[in-house]
Amino acid sequence: MTPTARTVVIETHGGPEVLTLTDRPVGEPGAGEIRLRHKACGLNFIDCYQRTGLYPMTLPHALGMEAAGVVEAVGEGVTHLAPGDRVAYAANPPGAYTEARVMPAAQVCKLPDAISFDEGAAMMLKGMTVQYLFHRTTPLKAGDTVLFHAAAGGVGLIACQWARSEGIRLIGTAGSDEKCQLALDHGAEACINYTTEDFTARTRELTDGRGVDVVMDSIGKSTFLGSLDCLKPLGMMISFGNASGPVEAFNLGLLAQKGSLKVTRPTLFAHTADPQACQEMAAMLFDKVTSGAVKIRIDQRFPLDQVAEAHRALESRRTTGQTILTLD
Ligand code: NDP
Repeated sequence: MTPTARTVVIETHGGPEVLTLTDRPVGEPGAGEIRLRHKACGLNFIDCYQRTGLYPMTLPHALGMEAAGVVEAVGEGVTHLAPGDRVAYAANPPGAYTEARVMPAAQVCKLPDAISFDEGAAMMLKGMTVQYLFHRTTPLKAGDTVLFHAAAGGVGLIACQWARSEGIRLIGTAGSDEKCQLALDHGAEACINYTTEDFTARTRELTDGRGVDVVMDSIGKSTFLGSLDCLKPLGMMISFGNASGPVEAFNLGLLAQKGSLKVTRPTLFAHTADPQACQEMAAMLFDKVTSGAVKIRIDQRFPLDQVAEAHRALESRRTTGQTILTLD
């Protein structure tokens, strides 16, 4: 009998109510694939973009990009994994909100024994994102200043700790004083409550009028132009998300007026498409976590059948740190 797994799918784009739990056949791994049984799944804002259709996908489709579990079977040509291995991943295609699946093996990484399944499920997508933001996007060195929006969120709390571990001065923003305190506790040098303060003016004040070297902006529409005003001449704007909506078209000439600014719009999966790069990025993340430089803070756990409530919490800014879906 073909085994089945409880899996979250969407038949149409829409609100959290379109998330449906269904039994799906799991199948056997083909060449270059593995079958794995999940222990926990990670929740990411990209899952909301895919659910709403901001990032369109062919429907029906399973959702979720990140999980941790145990390899059950490997297909032909898979050499870096074997049945019984503890693993974690952030990878395409979506379909990680499930008990078990068959998927391409290249982006799946062996999980060090010191890292729990829950931590593995919570950290791969967000942690490898911080890795590429800090190491593969623009050269950053100790003493450089970064403005990092949503510093108390999933990517944010990892970024605060990562910056501290490398002597990078991170100014965070967050939506409440409590969230700001959390960012400060995790290594932000300062944190601006951007619901009560003008983050551009405050960033200028905090840098004695100079501005920051780099802005890492995942908020998009509501912060993009203000973020450009926080940069030094020749500074780098890294726009990597759209939590408030996509960035609107803007006059490229603004970059010249504000001092030859640079802008990039990166995605994790462009970096991890190269399997060797993916394994190296994961190895660096694992070092940060096993050395204690970065702690994975799981503030929310939802059973798989409460995935809609998990999406509501993430989209309504009620979460901090990491969120996972549990499978017990
Ligand atoms: P978070 O845990 O950071 O949650 C998003 C946060 O954004 C909220 O908690 C909230 O924090 C802030 N926010 C500001 N405005 C809004 C709004 N209008 N609606 C909802 N939230 C808002 O999520 P993740 O850690 O999963 O992801 C962070 C961001 O990074 C996302 O935009 C995501 O898409 C992006 N990302 C991009 C990647 C890439 O490679 N391009 C890879 C991974 C993530 P507050 O209340 O403090 O403002």
